[in-house]
Amino acid sequence: MPGTNLTREEAQTRAALLDVQSYTVDLDLTTSETTFASTTTLRFTSREVGASTFADLVGADVHEITLNGRSIDPATAYADSRIQLDDLAAENELVVRADCTYSHSGEGLHRFVDPADDRVYLYSQFEVPDARRVYTTFEQPDLKSVFTFNVTAPEHWKVVSNAPTPTPTTLGGGKAVWNFPATKRMSTYITALVAGEYHEVQDVYEGKHGTIPLGHYCRQSLVDYLDRDELVKLTRAGFEFFEDAFDFPYPFEKYDQLYVPEYNMGAMENAGCVTLRDEYLPRSRQPRSFYEFRCSVILHEMAHMWFGDLVTMKWWDDLWLNESFAEWACYHAEVEATEFTDSWTGFANARKQTGYRQDQMPSTHPIAADNYDLQAVEVNFDMITYAKGASVLKQLVAWVGLDPFLAGLRQYFKDFAYGNSEFTDLLSALETASGRELEGWAKEWLQTAGVNTLAPQFELDADGNYTSFSVAQSAHPDWPTLRRHRIGIGLYDAQPTADGGTRLVRRESVEVDVDGASTEIPALVGKKQPDLLLLNDEDLTYAKIRLDERSLATLISGLSTLEDSLARALCWGAAWDMTRDAELAATDFVRLVLANIGSETDAWGVTRIPTYAAQAVSMMTAPEHRAALSAEWEQGLRTLLEAAAPGSDAQLTFARTYAGAARSKAAVRDLVALLDGELSFEGLSVDQDLRWTLIGGLARNGEADERIAAELAADNTISGQERAAAARAMQPDAEAKEAAWQAAFVDAGTPNETHRSIVLAFAPSGQDEILTPYVDRYLEAADTLWDHLGTHKASVALEFGFPRVLASDELLAKVDAWLESTPAPPAAKRYVLEGRADVARFLAAQRRDAQAG
Ligand SMILES: [Zn+2]
Repeated sequence: MPGTNLTREEAQTRAALLDVQSYTVDLDLTTSETTFASTTTLRFTSREVGASTFADLVGADVHEITLNGRSIDPATAYADSRIQLDDLAAENELVVRADCTYSHSGEGLHRFVDPADDRVYLYSQFEVPDARRVYTTFEQPDLKSVFTFNVTAPEHWKVVSNAPTPTPTTLGGGKAVWNFPATKRMSTYITALVAGEYHEVQDVYEGKHGTIPLGHYCRQSLVDYLDRDELVKLTRAGFEFFEDAFDFPYPFEKYDQLYVPEYNMGAMENAGCVTLRDEYLPRSRQPRSFYEFRCSVILHEMAHMWFGDLVTMKWWDDLWLNESFAEWACYHAEVEATEFTDSWTGFANARKQTGYRQDQMPSTHPIAADNYDLQAVEVNFDMITYAKGASVLKQLVAWVGLDPFLAGLRQYFKDFAYGNSEFTDLLSALETASGRELEGWAKEWLQTAGVNTLAPQFELDADGNYTSFSVAQSAHPDWPTLRRHRIGIGLYDAQPTADGGTRLVRRESVEVDVDGASTEIPALVGKKQPDLLLLNDEDLTYAKIRLDERSLATLISGLSTLEDSLARALCWGAAWDMTRDAELAATDFVRLVLANIGSETDAWGVTRIPTYAAQAVSMMTAPEHRAALSAEWEQGLRTLLEAAAPGSDAQLTFARTYAGAARSKAAVRDLVALLDGELSFEGLSVDQDLRWTLIGGLARNGEADERIAAELAADNTISGQERAAAARAMQPDAEAKEAAWQAAFVDAGTPNETHRSIVLAFAPSGQDEILTPYVDRYLEAADTLWDHLGTHKASVALEFGFPRVLASDELLAKVDAWLESTPAPPAAKRYVLEGRADVARFLAAQRRDAQAG
């Protein structure tokens, strides 16, 4: 019983048998509020007459199947999400008439009614295998085809797909039909349909290869927040950069970007029809890191138009390459073509950390995973795919050089345009362009899992000069690969400043290749030991770094005096790694953050590092230190908030973090006073988002009372509903907790984004007693949650609903017993295993912290 699974072998067999000529997809969106009519006409050839194969269609009510004019009984041919097709001719025409169901999980064709004005919005989301929830497909990336969509919808709607939008034909009765022209050749997973009462604006990009129409779309209730000028500016900058860097014209006819509600991910690279989560059109003040990230998302999807959409992986084995490349390309373009010129620092402070974390989980896997079926893709599609992959591509660029890298890419786009390829095709293009052998490199970096640690080893003479220097490389015993790294080594000294302080200035930096367990660095012998010696200066490689004793002392006293933002990011990262590895006490890390974060200037540094410290306070502090350190953290944030420059990102971040840290009566009073306008900080606007954050802080303390309902009455938007649901879930109240549990783990009908808000809010620290019964309930639910909630919502519930906050040896024992006997599928077990690994790490960190003074 394949269920909705599909194996690589089945896909290979089908691709060897078939070529797809065309799809014609007729959709009627006017039939009901729960279902829509879907008729697919699929023309394809078979290399073997008389052979059998199958088409894919999930969860449909199939009325009629016709193959080559022969009627097939759906009752026998449609089972288990597949339509059996026998006795194929050389040329075939398959017609399937069905009703399909709108989703509320963000998978397939999602339907949303805006509570602000009751308008209806639909959008599709198909990656990895969900086009088959909307029409009949051969659901695999290497059976590319052209697609003709004919869509019947209410006449006042906008209807957008991959091909340019036609003028609709009125059908009477308030309906119209949009007969789209055929698309370019593409894979099913990047086809798309967006329809509803969307607001539309049109601009153009005039480039060296011609004009590209640029559409932007959003809900009517968000029109005020569509910052069109900025979005168009970024989009134009992206096209100018990529058309030049890739030396290949944009491969589709137009470029629409549609900001859609209740979206699961950041965005999706549907060819010429990119969907993005509409939280990217914020109604309240956001820090610069938000805009830096939004810019990276816009450029990431644009890079996919070439890498992914024009040239597509044969099978999901190369999904990592698709994503890693788009990640690398978006940060590269951001630096080269936008105002966010230090976004590699932001990458180091935020995104890259998620890769390090994922790679130290028991569930880690090689970047190039063996995705033998769709279930394996579910297990292997994570931050290894994105963050580690992009970091390793950055290392590859350092290894071969940027120009040869780009030259190889250009050839690759020309050779495989509108077709499919495998990683080895890219590798040989890069080998030709760079003249470097890359097979060995690919083996050690892509086909093995785990992160290396680099540490300095040296001896000094009486004058404090190095008499020997080497870089030691190590690896976790479970993932023992040592790799070749190209790294910088920076020597930083404290220098006096005009105002009587000091600053850390780079004296010099050397670039070297590290190989094996120990690499001698003769270039440093005879040099005076610096105040701070920084391995992986410039962040070229992907590795954890360690600091020698003197450097660590320098960092603790003067991290914020480091001038270079990327060097600071590496120091923050090293300190956080050491805390997570129980080598630095959580108390010391929290004090490091309190002492230095007020001067941090990197956009991501300012907003992300306080979240690491908050985690250290609540999860990694020894129980006997926790109350005192929580109070120190709360008070420290209050002081930072007071001292922050009016209107700065730091001020906004400290206000948000303070709301999350508030425990004492005084702090709770502050939150109330901020909400009621009795306390204010110059330049800090208590806007709608911040109001909800403050209410969340009150709710967590059981002090929100009637405020949640009152705020929702004043803000009856989907964001308001989601924030209210989160605030209710946070309350230390048995009834509220039970209601949140039902919505998150039991009721499969909770809309996806509301569901996510509740799960994230469910288990704050400091509510141990009320949360304890939910350990058993979580594990029991985890047995069957995957099927009950579906892939996306189940993964959210299992990952973020794991009771990490109750870290204890008893919890570990319960989880171990569950792992022994559960019938849960590997994709579900993986999240429980990861939660367990976090808890084990927290307990080790707590023991380390217990030794701190
Ligand atoms: Zn992507």
